This record gives sequence, structure tokens and C-alpha cells, in this order.
Amino acid sequence: MAIDGFIGREWLLRNVGCICKRKFTSDILLVKHIRTVLKENKDILVLYPEARYTLAGTNASLPNSLGKLVKMMNVPVVMLKMHGHYLNSPCWNLTERGNRISAEYRQIIPKERLSEMTSEEINTVLADSFRYDEYAWQKKNGIRIAFPDRAKGLHHILYQCPHCLEEFKMDSAGSRIWCDACGKAWTMSDLGELQAESGETEFPHIPDWFEFERRFIRTQVESGTYRFSDDVTVDSLPNAKGYIRLGTAHLTHDANGFRLEGSFEGKPFLLVKEPKTMYACHIEYDYFGKGDCIDLSTLEDTYYLYPRTQRTVVTKISLATEELYRIKKGSEQIG
Ligand SMILES: [Zn+2]
Repeated sequence: MAIDGFIGREWLLRNVGCICKRKFTSDILLVKHIRTVLKENKDILVLYPEARYTLAGTNASLPNSLGKLVKMMNVPVVMLKMHGHYLNSPCWNLTERGNRISAEYRQIIPKERLSEMTSEEINTVLADSFRYDEYAWQKKNGIRIAFPDRAKGLHHILYQCPHCLEEFKMDSAGSRIWCDACGKAWTMSDLGELQAESGETEFPHIPDWFEFERRFIRTQVESGTYRFSDDVTVDSLPNAKGYIRLGTAHLTHDANGFRLEGSFEGKPFLLVKEPKTMYACHIEYDYFGKGDCIDLSTLEDTYYLYPRTQRTVVTKISLATEELYRIKKGSEQIG
């Protein structure tokens, strides 16, 4: 469980068995805790390997180390997959819609098969099992969501206009999303499909629009033109007691990864996270009313960064983190 979930209830969560973790850090101690749960306590370990909310109702990348961990622990792997939670309360607008949910529960790797599988083969089974698309599930099951504000907030994830390609000029309200740069608008149906109010509908399926944004970033990353730079307000979470406002610093994100630089209470501060050390990053939309944020962790602290001047940029930063990692890993394997 991520450390921010422990705020104000650390005693309770530790007593029911939650293991505290800082997101997207390599943490050897965590492996030891997992071993204690499985081998010493002979208990069941519940793991959320995606470690984040789904942004567009589709699965996120899993860490490569997961297959190795499963092989090392040598226990059967069972998956509980719940559908409908994202549709009920998507991270870009948490108001509950009240739609029905369903769950699948099945063993995906029996213990007997583990000894003959490589960690790569285990990763393939895990990745296949984790594939999901909540909007496809909605359509297939005919789940109608008539919630009037069903598209409100959608511009957080659909931040780029597929018509004029402008970024961060999208906005949304009610059942509509539109581009303030070119004026094109789309309406979201009660089955979660988008339809252009005039002209061609580029992406009726929301995850397709999201993947179009990812492809755009990938070309920027490959051509070396991807760059984010802004002043950010920095909150620190050294323990589960609460956030500490550090002040303002400068964040850049480019081919060299994240660089957070500033000075707090007269002391220089620098945090660098290279692309190959983060296969993904965690973001929040309008976090506790403080705005959109990115969080970056070391093993000792977690920094919540709120861009000062740019709006709806955190989704792009999150996608760029994943693409920078893939390209870096890919070039290392070729090299
Ligand atoms: Zn536009």
C-alpha cells in the first residue's frame, strides 16, 4: 500500500497487515516482507502490481521484476479482476455513477507449472491475464450510464485534440468534451462512446484516443523533441503523519528523465530520476483540491509536485515516463 494511504491510520493498516511502499521505487525490503507473509506466516499475499489507477479504463504496464518475484516465491497465482469500478468512479471525476460491477476469480498459474516456466514466460501469462478495457466491457454488457456529468473531467486524460493536434486546450462539462483551440466538440453517449458534434468522429472509443496521444509522445521522444518544464509547488511526505509544504522548485522532464531542482530553507535541493529507473509514474487529478500532481519517490521520501503555470499536463508526463522507459530499455537490449 502506498504511503499516502497510511496517513492518519497507520496503526490500523499495519495491524491488518498492509505493507507500506513508496510507488515506483526498487525496494529490496518489500521482497523480504512478501517472503515473511508467504513463507513464515504461511498467509495469502494480495498484490496490486499495476500500482495505480487506470487512467482510460485499460491496463497499465507491469514491472519486469514481477515474473522473477513469482518464481522466487513459488506459490500459486490467483487473480481477482473486478470490472465496473473505473466506470463507476473514474480517477478524472470521482462522483459515483452507481453502475453494476462484476468480478472474475481464477487461478492463472498453478504452483506445479512454476518450476518449468521462465520468469519471462510468467510475465507473459501475467500480462495476458491483466489485459482489460472497461469501455469495451461496458458496451459488451450494455451498461448504460445516464449520469448527466459523465464526460466532466474527461479532458484530463483526453488532453490533445485529434482534429487540430493542439495539446492542453481541451475542456469538458456535462456529457461534452471540446477543444478551445479549434472549437471541435464531441458528446459522450450513455454507453461511453464519443461522437463528434460535426464532421468525422476520430475516436469513438476513448482508449483509442488515449493511445493516439501515446503514439504522438512516442514520436516526440524518438525525435528528441519531448520536453516538459515548469515551476512546481512541492509537498513532501517523509512519513505517514502528513504532507509538509517545502516551497517552489523547478521540474523538467525530457530524455534524461526527471530533474527537480530548487532550494528549500536556504539549502540546495536536487532530485534526479533517470528514465530506466521508472517504468511508470503516479499522477493525481485535483489532489485534495490542490490541483493535478505528479509524485516522485526516493526510498526515504515522496514528493508531490503541482505544476504552477501549465494545466492538464500530468497525463502527458505519465505517458512520456512509460515511453522513455520503453525506448531506453529497448536501446539497451539492442546495444
Ligand atoms: Zn482542436
